[in-house]
Amino acid sequence: MALLVDLRSDTVTTPTPEMRRAMANAEVGDDVYAEDPTVNRLQERAAALLGKEAALFVPSGTMGNEIAVKVHTHPGDEVLIDEDAHIVKWELGAAAFISNVQLHTLPNQRGIVPVGEYARRIHPGDDHTPSTRLICLENTHNASGGVVLPLEYMREVWCLARQNNVEVHLDGARIFNAAVALGVPAKELADCAHSVMFCLSKGLACPVGSMLCGSRAFIEEARRLRKILGGAMRQVGILAAAGLVALDTMIERLAEDHARARRLAEAIAGMPGFGVDMATVQTNMVYVQTEAPARRVVQQLEMLGVLCLDVFPHTIRLVTHKDVGDEHITHAIDAFAKVAG
Ligand SMILES: *Cc1c(COP(=O)(O)O)cnc(C)c1O
Repeated sequence: MALLVDLRSDTVTTPTPEMRRAMANAEVGDDVYAEDPTVNRLQERAAALLGKEAALFVPSGTMGNEIAVKVHTHPGDEVLIDEDAHIVKWELGAAAFISNVQLHTLPNQRGIVPVGEYARRIHPGDDHTPSTRLICLENTHNASGGVVLPLEYMREVWCLARQNNVEVHLDGARIFNAAVALGVPAKELADCAHSVMFCLSKGLACPVGSMLCGSRAFIEEARRLRKILGGAMRQVGILAAAGLVALDTMIERLAEDHARARRLAEAIAGMPGFGVDMATVQTNMVYVQTEAPARRVVQQLEMLGVLCLDVFPHTIRLVTHKDVGDEHITHAIDAFAKVAG
């Protein structure tokens, strides 16, 4: 059978053999009673890794983000957030639906809203205006091609927020991609936020799950909201077992995904009909500009055994992950060359 390369997302990863063994052998209990030892271990590990007091296993990144927004705000509060954030674009308006907050969306350059813009928008709330309660950051920034928000920028936003009594939530679905690309521990990024969500089910290759991390009081409230939203599960140590393996074995190797994305991007950038802004290729994503309609290019690539997504009318997204090896990259480059023909 011809080689099939799936570059649609890092969510298409399958669990490693070690994960499957750990899942099969997981020690479990009823997590609604907080009695699942494997879940408890994973929550402790995640909290320690990000330098937070506590953590909570949640079924999805979306639930983690939306619980965070709810815990940090009251109905009618205002949240400052870049207009391309996952919370704005791809969570079905959940912040309005669940938390009844006003998302004040701001223009950004690759996920970065100038700190002065945040400063200008923060207001305490009075008889006429909503209270600014929360700033949401996203690192890496998905819609900008997986670019990394620099640590220095995160620290500036953190300072501003604290000076103004505003909370910060970090959508760190891919925080480890950011940390590996920056060469810093993820904790340093997490230090710039009151709460952090990260996904186990993306580049870390787990089948299910995300972690929400924060103070003990924050996680206590988050736990109640998880139950309200139907996200409390029973012998979920079977899933958490994969998460523990992921934290042990899948973080350092993200550098390989980044190197492969770069190789792919460099090759495609030189082909007629395609363009890649190499400055945005910082982690495991490549956004390719296409002269032809992206939809048509995606179909042509599919015939050649390469799956990817058309994210805008003339933009294709390619994502590397642990199930994409060097031979897959070679195959994908050959397919692009044929389409460029
Ligand atoms: C995927 C993603 C999420 C949501 O995760 P799900 O598990 O798919 O709900 C949130 N934020 C970002 C930046 C993401 O890429």
